[in-house]
Amino acid sequence: MASKKPPKSDKKPAAKADKKPAKREKRHEDIILPFMLEESSLRGRAVRLGKGVDTILTRHNYPEPVSRLLGEMLVLTSMLANTLKFDGIFTAQVNGDGPVRFIVVDSVADGHLRGYAAIEEDAPEFHVSNDADALTMRDLLGKGYLAITVDQNAQAERYQGIVELTGDTLSESVMEYFRQSEQIDVALSVAVGKSREGGRKGDSWEAGGIMLQCMPEQRKGDDVLFLDFNADSALMYGREEWNRAKILLRSVTKYELLDPFLPMPELLYRLFNEEGVRVYEPSTLHAKCRCSRERVERVLKTLPRDDLGDMLVEGKITVTCQFCNKDELFTEAQVKALMGE
Ligand SMILES: [Zn+2]
Repeated sequence: MASKKPPKSDKKPAAKADKKPAKREKRHEDIILPFMLEESSLRGRAVRLGKGVDTILTRHNYPEPVSRLLGEMLVLTSMLANTLKFDGIFTAQVNGDGPVRFIVVDSVADGHLRGYAAIEEDAPEFHVSNDADALTMRDLLGKGYLAITVDQNAQAERYQGIVELTGDTLSESVMEYFRQSEQIDVALSVAVGKSREGGRKGDSWEAGGIMLQCMPEQRKGDDVLFLDFNADSALMYGREEWNRAKILLRSVTKYELLDPFLPMPELLYRLFNEEGVRVYEPSTLHAKCRCSRERVERVLKTLPRDDLGDMLVEGKITVTCQFCNKDELFTEAQVKALMGE
């Protein structure tokens, strides 16, 4: 399914009144689209989150810079999980010594995403600036690390890779992770914002991103044009091809990444039409938690009797899921029944 069609609409709607405005009601969001640039065999993923990211960020209502960081983490995690074939849980976590203690996002193979941040609510950083983009990942997390964990169902081993936080954005740390643990060069463009930032009405969260991967095993026959192990170089492609693709990727605007009415294949064509962009079947993404009352019961059963006693407030135990904020209530009688009393 090559997307060799010209783009249907220009960036800006036609100003002339004699043309009917294009129908733009269909939303292209909560999807991830794999693609390839045929001229160079470079592969990539394009993702756009709408309802999914809005559900997660609105539910938590963090200070805005934290919401943006969690939004970026949701985009990055969905792209990383989609590059792997796995049957289990993919988890990305960043820990730091700043006002954001950690952020964790996980994804299961069918595209279910969830995530939350642990923050110091009173930290002055959250109350000083009105400029949402003024705080960097470094300001929020300080020094720390990014950990990627893949828990396979039963048959396979657990995998974990860790890299120190690098640069000023989460994307830079993810690029460093790929360099160190996979020997893959990755280029990323990620945006998170409110719909009004895309020039439309409304205040819902949107996020989007495009990733290009430079896989070491994809050499062009024996014609290895460049072989260099410097961090900033393409391993098996010509440096020129990789650099050209990266420059084209950098030309994408925040507006284009976030606009839910701009189909992803159209956006990829705008960016990479001279590279022969081919798109594959998209997958859908959803905000969905895996918590359940049964899981909470299992955890409560493992706790010492005294600890359960300490948890009782006005004759009840309340356990809140950190991912989705859902409360599970247990009466004293229900707790006793759990303990077999
Ligand atoms: Zn939950």
